[in-house]
Amino acid sequence: MTHKNPQTREWQTLSNDHHLAPFSDFKQLKEKGPRIITHAKGVYLWDSEGNQILDGMAGLWCVAIGYGRDELAEAASKQMRELPYYNLFFQTAHPPVLELSKAIAEVAPEGMNHVFFTGSGSEGNDTMLRMVRHYWAIKGQPNKKTIISRVNGYHGSTVAGASLGGMTYMHEQGDLPIPGIVHIPQPYWFGEGGDMSPEEFGIWAANQLEEKILELGVDNVGAFIAEPIQGAGGVIIPPDSYWPRIKEILAKYDILFVADEVICGFGRTGEWFGSDFYDLKPDMMTIAKGLTSGYIPMGGLIVRDEVVAVLNEGGDFNHGFTYSGHPVAAAVALENIRIMREEKIIQRAHEKAAPYLQKRLRELSDHPLVGEVRGVGLLGAIELVKDKATRARYEGRGVGMICRQFCFDNGLIMRAVGDTMIIAPPLVISEAEIDELVTKARKCLDLTLSVLEG
Ligand SMILES: *Cc1c(COP(=O)(O)O)cnc(C)c1O
Repeated sequence: MTHKNPQTREWQTLSNDHHLAPFSDFKQLKEKGPRIITHAKGVYLWDSEGNQILDGMAGLWCVAIGYGRDELAEAASKQMRELPYYNLFFQTAHPPVLELSKAIAEVAPEGMNHVFFTGSGSEGNDTMLRMVRHYWAIKGQPNKKTIISRVNGYHGSTVAGASLGGMTYMHEQGDLPIPGIVHIPQPYWFGEGGDMSPEEFGIWAANQLEEKILELGVDNVGAFIAEPIQGAGGVIIPPDSYWPRIKEILAKYDILFVADEVICGFGRTGEWFGSDFYDLKPDMMTIAKGLTSGYIPMGGLIVRDEVVAVLNEGGDFNHGFTYSGHPVAAAVALENIRIMREEKIIQRAHEKAAPYLQKRLRELSDHPLVGEVRGVGLLGAIELVKDKATRARYEGRGVGMICRQFCFDNGLIMRAVGDTMIIAPPLVISEAEIDELVTKARKCLDLTLSVLEG
């Protein structure tokens, strides 16, 4: 491949010589060389070759308020000068983490007023696993250890995160899942619903939770964890019947419910949290990504008051990270939330960008390659199929990857999960930018179809 900018080759050589990239085939990446992203503004990225790219994924779902907000840089710089680091371990605290805890409690669902901070979403879920087991031990039920999760859920990439997640290709490496984590089927009607109607299938999928609780014995089950909408699994929007039935089951059995809000939290659905969107009333919520709009790493676990009351009786919680509640990250998160509130970013997304994006995306349903378009808020998925009526795929053709490459080459980032194309642009995307996104998406669908027919 020839380069306009000779530096591109130099950077690619550095990548080959020294960098091991996450979720990558190291050897294949060496042959191709990574695309080098050099700067960004609003919803756009620029690569080292000068290409302008519309970021339909907000980075990895995280850049909620868009790229290039100087206020966040200022907040980080100010905090670094004042107190760049101090820990929270030995009965100390600092202003940014305390102010951030309050700000999060203000936007979180009612009765969720405490936050335990981590450096990432994965660490948030590791914290959750240990806190759930600690909670039940304090209550004199130490056998309530098992955590029920879902096939094709995503909960991170640490040992606990990948185990909680239901990605089999992750489990295959490193003998996962660890003991005490079990998976039930996902509510993915388009892919797995067969002849059932979406509503029937939603009830069936939810009932799997009850069956698993009864199979394990409720005295052995500590918690159920789920993303309100599965993100990395392919933007899987459960049928309308799913969450109400899950809520009935959760009300029946004494187990904790954890909403993994790492993607849905901080406005993605057009509400502050996916739990608000579906009225879920979780006991714990994992957060990260939109918390800082990705400008700096930070995650956490928001915990319901009743759970905190039990933990208060349990002595030391022997868990924490050097960077728990890092002051610079906390200052950036605080500024991010301030901007979201003052500029009414979520409310505006809810009223304008979300309905417009959903309407425009659904226009792609008429495309011969498209079996379904679905979405909520600023999340969307496009299913690529061979036969719309039977939902049959082009088996073994790698259609999603073909489409993803066309998108990249035509200035649009859409991600492929198998043959499902997914988007999650910054919440601040404008109507004109949504038009551009949909126009480019249609063009790339056409190009993909021409390859399949050719
Ligand atoms: C990204 C993600 C995580 C993991 O967060 P990291 O910051 O990458 O560790 C956990 N849960 C969900 C739902 C995610 O999308």
